[in-house]
Amino acid sequence: RNVKRQMACRSDINSFNAPFLAVFESLIPADEEKVKQKQLMMLLEKHVSKEWPEARLHVYGSCANSFGFSKSDIDVCLAMELGNIDKSEILLKLADILQSDNLQNVQALTRARVPIVKLKDPVTGISCDICVNNVLAVVNTKLLRDYAQIDVRLRQLAFIIKHWAKSRGVNETYQGTLSSYAYVLMCIHFLQQRRPAILPCLQGMEITYFTIVDNVECAYFDQVEKLQNFGLRNGESIAQLVWAFFHYWAYCHDYANDVISVRTGSTLSKRAKDWTRRVGNDRHLICIEDPFEVSHDLGRVVDKYSIRVLREEFERAAEIMQYDHNPCVTLFEPY
Ligand code: ATP
Ligand code: MG
Repeated sequence: RNVKRQMACRSDINSFNAPFLAVFESLIPADEEKVKQKQLMMLLEKHVSKEWPEARLHVYGSCANSFGFSKSDIDVCLAMELGNIDKSEILLKLADILQSDNLQNVQALTRARVPIVKLKDPVTGISCDICVNNVLAVVNTKLLRDYAQIDVRLRQLAFIIKHWAKSRGVNETYQGTLSSYAYVLMCIHFLQQRRPAILPCLQGMEITYFTIVDNVECAYFDQVEKLQNFGLRNGESIAQLVWAFFHYWAYCHDYANDVISVRTGSTLSKRAKDWTRRVGNDRHLICIEDPFEVSHDLGRVVDKYSIRVLREEFERAAEIMQYDHNPCVTLFEPY
């Protein structure tokens, strides 16, 4: 691995820019999908405001963070004062209301780790998960969306990485691999590390956005329209970045000692976070600090077996990016 750390990028790398951009373009949702999502949201809002006039509905996850593919499900958060009412009670009531409006497959899953109501809108064909008061997810969705506004290469890179992860079966948290959210954070971290940097560290700048959610302070610079020129000093192309991304996770990241931290724009030591040993089911074999809930390691789902799968996949991808004749196809071949 140490030898490969020094490896220079192939000389024909830029011939792959156009095909990688074509992959990206093919995954972007069409405008009419956005219109349908809005229609479904309006329908949900009508029902919710009738029953709970004070409550608010927020879209979060990939439909709102600008990293969503076409045909994504919508993640929705119902935000309301609960007092001493139980979340399950709200979800059962919500399912009841929505059921009566010829939505399909309305189901309350009150025992899930994150309890939700699931449904499908027969008019638009869109599926949707509604949770209650998962407001931190709404705020981290805004952070991701704000980062995406700064430099287009983040959105392009993250689409390609998510597509690779889904094709290779390493985007399955229940199997010990990483969530889409974790991959996007890895992309942001990676672009913060380029020299010159392609992305800034928004949480290290003047605070223009502040909120407290579940006792967690969320604060950062959100006037991203002022940062449009930030990445211009770095002229790396998308193909170079895909190459470097896989090279970094295959040969350069120090899995034994480092924590990736978008919050600080850098890496932290596992020791400083006390993430050096297994506690319960959290093994910390790859450490990704949540930008707001800093005690939360997004890599905690990764176990002894799946870390090998992940690292072998990073190495496979790095080799393909270095040697393959047609990386834009081979990279995404099903496993
Ligand atoms: P996909 O296109 O694969 O559905 P997604 O962007 O919706 O991608 P998910 O990983 O399904 O990503 O997560 C949805 C949202 O839930 C994320 O954008 C994030 O706000 C939140 N989230 C997911 N996992 C975590 C986590 N472990 N900790 C905190 N928030 C999370
Ligand atoms: Mg999702």
